[in-house]
Amino acid sequence: MLKKTKIVATVGPASESEEILRQMIINGVNVFRLNFSHGTHEYHKQNLEKIRKVASELNTRIGILQDISGPKIRTGELKEPFELKKGDRLDFYRSKILGERVDLTHYKLSINQSDILNMLKVGEYVYLYDGSIRAKIVDINKNFIQSVIENDGFLNSNKGINFPNTRINIDVITQKDRRDLLWGIENGVDFLAISFVQNAHDIDEVREILVQNGAKIAIFAKIEKFDAVENIDEIIASSDGIMVARGDLGIEVPYYKVPNIQKAIIQKANNASKPVITATQMLFSLAKTKTATRAEISDVANAVLDGTDAVMLSEESAVGIDPANAVDVMCKTIVEVEKSYPYNKFNRFDYLDDTDKIMQSSTHLATDLNADAIFALTSSGKSAIKIARYRPNIEIIAIAHSEKTLNFLSIVWGVNPAILVNKSDELTQLLKDAVKSSVEKGFMSKDRCYILSAGFPTGVEGTSNLIRILKREQIAYYLR
Ligand code: PGA
Ligand code: MN
Repeated sequence: MLKKTKIVATVGPASESEEILRQMIINGVNVFRLNFSHGTHEYHKQNLEKIRKVASELNTRIGILQDISGPKIRTGELKEPFELKKGDRLDFYRSKILGERVDLTHYKLSINQSDILNMLKVGEYVYLYDGSIRAKIVDINKNFIQSVIENDGFLNSNKGINFPNTRINIDVITQKDRRDLLWGIENGVDFLAISFVQNAHDIDEVREILVQNGAKIAIFAKIEKFDAVENIDEIIASSDGIMVARGDLGIEVPYYKVPNIQKAIIQKANNASKPVITATQMLFSLAKTKTATRAEISDVANAVLDGTDAVMLSEESAVGIDPANAVDVMCKTIVEVEKSYPYNKFNRFDYLDDTDKIMQSSTHLATDLNADAIFALTSSGKSAIKIARYRPNIEIIAIAHSEKTLNFLSIVWGVNPAILVNKSDELTQLLKDAVKSSVEKGFMSKDRCYILSAGFPTGVEGTSNLIRILKREQIAYYLR
């Protein structure tokens, strides 16, 4: 494996051909994101089929992340764009109206989710057009909420609105999201990214839908609301992974706070052994130009150094001029920074359960013995993530009993989800299968040293309880 930090790339009009998808995989993509803020089910289905076809031709494992769009709050229709000036009055109507200018300094409009207006209080802010216009609430009336504009700006129909001071507590799963989730279940996606999560309850709601439909898909919480940052511990505890969604996050909290929040979330996710993606505007210039800025390259490098499992491309790969180039730039940056990476983070994390200790020991042992690789025989994938948490400078090879687990591990730092073996009630048989398959696939050679960790009996989650040193004699034994 060329690099340890994984790459997630969004598929869109610029990358939907098989040829480009193929080149993106060759250049380093591990997971493709299907963004359900755009496109029909048929559209995403076509892309999904192309990805699976190309991945299988290249004989590689590619994860599929379905990004559920969630309740994006927007301005309603405006008769004409508003040219707002500082000090102007803007009224938010509770009923649906066509937005218009009332007089020279007074405008009115409605928003797509008018319930939210009930929660606003005098003194709170409303941010319009992705944060570019700030309005301060000055009065609450029966039919409308009155605000004063604090800076000049143009406003159009259907532009994003944020409430950086108000816990709006809305349902993060809309009717559209429900239909999209069913699509994801039917089409076997590997990850769900849930937008605008506020608290653990939002994640539980998604899990409930999965349970009702007998599905098990990893749920990633997108951290892009101020209250999600406040509730980060419970959100991490209830999700399977996290996305630092810096686009909306940088509107919900002051933009200059995003770097520290990114670092804190990554640290917490690492500690809890939950994979974390750093997303949005990483190589933004590449959407329009051939070269990234030095600052963007540093942004990718610093996210890697912060300990992120994966970095993500959005516009760069979905609508950019050269998606394969964006992946290449990202990959080269990762490979380079990983040459001086803070590997071997032993004694840096909490021990939340016994498996944490076993995994720390196996990783430490592998490092001390200068092993060629660490094999994690894992049912749920958890023990491979727990090895990865220590960021060893040794390849981690996951051996699992299901495609689902291997696909899940495609997003985890340093893990090569390479080997599928049958379950067995007999330990020796299990190890024989694992060793045989590893040798056959070229991940184990007969005269090198490896560490293998496993849980036995198989399938009891959180019971990794076995460490084997595999050298020539042991490998020969299991191959007999
Ligand atoms: P989006 O989420 O691309 O779906 O908006 C990511 C972000 O807000 O950063
Ligand atoms: Mn977002």
